[in-house]
Amino acid sequence: MGRVLIIGAGAAGSVVAKKCAKNRDIFSHIHLASRTLAKCEKVQAECESEISISQVDADNVNEVVDLIKAQNPDLVINMALPYQDLPIMDACLATGVDYLDTANYEPKDEAKFEYSWQWAYQDKFKNKGIKAILGCGFDPGVTNIFCAYAQKNLFDEIHYIDIVDCNAGDHGKAFATNFNPEINIREVTQDGKYWENGEWKEIKALSISKMIDYPQVGEKNSYLIYHEELESLVENIKGLKRIRFWMTFSENYIKHLDVLQNVGMTRIDPINYNGTEIIPLQFLKALLPEPSSLAENYTGKTSIGCVIQGVKDGKTKKYIIYNVCDHTRSNAELGAQAVSYTTGVPAFVGAIMALQGKWAGEGVFNVEQFDPDPFLETLAQHGLEWHVEELKVTSDTETLAA
Ligand code: NDP
Repeated sequence: MGRVLIIGAGAAGSVVAKKCAKNRDIFSHIHLASRTLAKCEKVQAECESEISISQVDADNVNEVVDLIKAQNPDLVINMALPYQDLPIMDACLATGVDYLDTANYEPKDEAKFEYSWQWAYQDKFKNKGIKAILGCGFDPGVTNIFCAYAQKNLFDEIHYIDIVDCNAGDHGKAFATNFNPEINIREVTQDGKYWENGEWKEIKALSISKMIDYPQVGEKNSYLIYHEELESLVENIKGLKRIRFWMTFSENYIKHLDVLQNVGMTRIDPINYNGTEIIPLQFLKALLPEPSSLAENYTGKTSIGCVIQGVKDGKTKKYIIYNVCDHTRSNAELGAQAVSYTTGVPAFVGAIMALQGKWAGEGVFNVEQFDPDPFLETLAQHGLEWHVEELKVTSDTETLAA
């Protein structure tokens, strides 16, 4: 039995709250706090059992400290935005409470994705005797844990990893993002990067693409982009020679993004409009559909996994480990589209691991540093089944070759 404080009542945060509320044998006390109280009220009304709510500005460390003191949680689950990671970690340090999130810290004025800021808390968390669990969504999150599972159970040494992320769903809108629009567009418009033979190789944004055959979905054009889990997996997977991340974007999405970029709507520096400073990307976010509003008419599936090649007992082996999630099914269960569902359910399972002591330790951890087996077992019991399939090895170096 444990007490949790969830911060952020958006698309993914509402999934965490609703899942916790369905599992009161584990979560004895659930408090949801967010910037807009009305959003907490909506989630509260939709939860299967009673949760408490309040308003908080998580950019303000003192407000979060007061909230933690009032709620006395065993774990704070940060489902707000990456900008709030450090203030919430500071509040956890001040109060001696464990921390979990799904996305690494980003400064507001620069679209820069790296763990340096959060890894810098290592000694502080250790000295305080608490832990921070970083990146416990789907990717980062389950994809890291698939790699840890492969390292533990399938290979002696892993050489190549391709993380392949496909959303083959259709929400019926002209243009919308599946998670927070500001964070999504910052991620996609940055230059790409992958890691090979000990060094990072940089590429222009969306300049490399490839057809990839996704389980249960088929072939989809996929773009090589930088994604934050690459940084920690390079540190934690032994023998690695290359790791890349691929994501599908529809032609329609790319077309809209091109136009928005060309006219300056994705800029993150302030501009003066009629005497008021506005940030174009934040203005654009205000116009776009909220990711939580997409669920109702969403059809199709997400198919996300890791293609991993390496050596076992002297032989080259290749596997894909993946999950497929149906937008219609996740909507029927929790009123959530599959991208929010696949983010929120792993955070909820990570919370179970922390509360039950299956993931123990002091300091700052990326999820692949914990035992993958209990996590994956619990994940499958709570709506995200995963599969391991052995693939034919067709090339010594190219895991995505047919
Ligand atoms: P949403 O925009 O739907 O939700 C974010 C919520 O955080 C909103 O309710 C927002 O409040 C709240 N919030 C923002 N700023 C503050 C603040 N200062 N204080 C308190 N609350 C605040 O986004 P998503 O649910 O789609 O995404 C949530 C997180 O999940 C993001 O960090 C995103 O990067 C991450 N993510 C991770 C994935 C993974 O697989 N690892 C995949 C997808 C997302 P308000 O409603 O007032 O704006």
